Amino acid sequence: MHPSRARLPWLLAVLPCLQLGFACAFAAIPAQAPAAASSPGAAFDAKYMELRGTGLSTQPSPAQVMARLDELARLRPAGDSVRDLRYRAIYCDWAFDENPGAQLAWADDGLARSRAAHDGEGEANFHYCRAAALETTGAQDQILPEYEAGIAAARRIGDDRLLADGLSLRGGLHSLLGDQARAIPDLVAAQHLYRRGGFKADAEALLLDIAISYRRMGDNAKARDYLQQNEIYASALGDYDQLVANLLQQGYLAEDEDRIDDALALYRRTMVLARERGNDYDIASVQLAMAWPWILRKDYARALALVDAARAGFDALGDRTNDDMLALRRGQAHAGLGRHVLSLSEYALAATALERSDNRRYLALLHRARARSEQALGRDAQAFADLERYIDIRESITSAERSQQAQMLRYQFDNDRELLENERVAREQGLRDRQLQALLQARRWQWTAIALACVLLLLLGALVVRQLVRMRRLHEIATTDPLTGVANRRSIEHLGAKAIAGARAAGQPLCALILDLDHFKSVNDTHGHPCGDKVLARMAHACRDALRHFDLLGRTGGEEFLVLLPDTRMDQAWPIARRLCATVAAIDFDDLAHGLRITVSIGMAELRSADASLHDLVARADAALYQAKGNGRNRIEVGDA
Ligand code: GH3
Ligand code: MG
Ligand code: MG
Repeated sequence: MHPSRARLPWLLAVLPCLQLGFACAFAAIPAQAPAAASSPGAAFDAKYMELRGTGLSTQPSPAQVMARLDELARLRPAGDSVRDLRYRAIYCDWAFDENPGAQLAWADDGLARSRAAHDGEGEANFHYCRAAALETTGAQDQILPEYEAGIAAARRIGDDRLLADGLSLRGGLHSLLGDQARAIPDLVAAQHLYRRGGFKADAEALLLDIAISYRRMGDNAKARDYLQQNEIYASALGDYDQLVANLLQQGYLAEDEDRIDDALALYRRTMVLARERGNDYDIASVQLAMAWPWILRKDYARALALVDAARAGFDALGDRTNDDMLALRRGQAHAGLGRHVLSLSEYALAATALERSDNRRYLALLHRARARSEQALGRDAQAFADLERYIDIRESITSAERSQQAQMLRYQFDNDRELLENERVAREQGLRDRQLQALLQARRWQWTAIALACVLLLLLGALVVRQLVRMRRLHEIATTDPLTGVANRRSIEHLGAKAIAGARAAGQPLCALILDLDHFKSVNDTHGHPCGDKVLARMAHACRDALRHFDLLGRTGGEEFLVLLPDTRMDQAWPIARRLCATVAAIDFDDLAHGLRITVSIGMAELRSADASLHDLVARADAALYQAKGNGRNRIEVGDA
């Protein structure tokens, strides 16, 4: 926020700086540009923040002000309506020195543009700018609504800085209008917001405004406290304007509390600063301020000399705003020197101006002083009337101060209660939030645990399945003949032993067939070993397909197979053996070798009770096979032995 806004109360109320118009307000604008930003928008933003920010630097001339505005205008990215509004807002604040009509028109235009762009920040800025223009025109009653509208816009968009700007402006206005009970909460709230937002300079500068409000309300202790805090800050920063305003305020406060020496010491310090700075307005202001302590010390000649010097200073600057105080002090000094007729003429001058400005504190002093001079001149009736007026004004001031203090206490009480209530609500909300968070966290952990368990189970399942598959594969490998896919020797012997045990247990018959390919050697010899392999595989598959599903088939040797027919008598085995012979004989091997045909010889035997094992049964089938071979092959023989 521009300091002309943020520091409005004391600028208007006390600062001689006011007479210097915007030049003083510009004192807070840093002269140096920030490091070059990366994009056009960023460069604009950096410049904008720099120009808006408070700080301390030299007072720029109007030409420098325009140069800075031009620089900002150049940094505005084309077609960026929001940044254009930011530029226009700063322009509104700065470019219309002494031309409130144009400023008002500019602000109205900015407001319309901001509303069209739904830009709350722009709205607030232009309301504040409108207020500044209205202030220059003296339309006091229209200023407050502008601040209210700006504050509402700032609240709407949740911009703490803009809100603080509005509150400090409104607080300043209340303070100026004598409503300290309203001013102080606004100023304090603004100060908190500035501090919270890290706008230290704004926050610290408000200490002075708050101090002035407290002094105006008659709460000297609070005023002193704030002034001392602000003095430390202003000294550390070397902020001349703030320090001068502060020291003058401390001087007035010392006067209020009859600490005349302190007041003089403070004014002397101020004078040193003003002389160092060569600020004629401030020098004249301090001279005027110093007159009163010297009057209180009854050094009227010195006081008069100071007032005259001050008047000469103000005259040289063409300033008339202090004529009332100059006249009052001159009157008081003359009265001290016994020149009451002169005093009364000065008082008459002062009275008109003080009545007009409704400065009741000084008006009361004037009536009291005038009563003394009138009394000295024997005009008792006038003296009495002035004393009565003095008493009236004092009473009204005291009662106003009391009521403001009471009002303030009420505000504070309400505020504290609201704060406590808010804290309680926030605490409860925080507790609920924490509980909810804990619950959500617990639930998250639960879900995580469940998910992990699922993943683990899936992994375990996958491992088990893999293991089972492996085991099955291993079992298959262990029990299957890799060339033909039927049971290998070990497996068929095992199955055969089980089948015999089963047949014996169930009292069922069982037949064994041994198949041996005829002249298979010549297949290998003629067509090659790989062809023989394919013949073997095809023959085994064909036999498998020709058997019943509970029959057992296994490869027992090179081109020799054992078939076990459970629950089958010899007479039932015959057709099966014949089917096998026919099946093998019918296999088409033309794709392997043209005209290749294969036959098989089969030896059969039925299980007998005397058989000790599979071996005995197979031995008989083997013998039958031998016979079949001997009898010309491609035939079936039964083993009887
Ligand atoms: P027979 O009618 O008397 O049974 O005559 P054969 O030629 O079939 O019998 P022999 O015992 O003289 O020959 C068996 C042949 O089977 C010898 C061997 O090369 C072949 N053989 C054994 N195992 C395999 C095999 O796994 N693949 C191939 N291609 N040939 C095999
Ligand atoms: Mg053989
Ligand atoms: Mg053979």
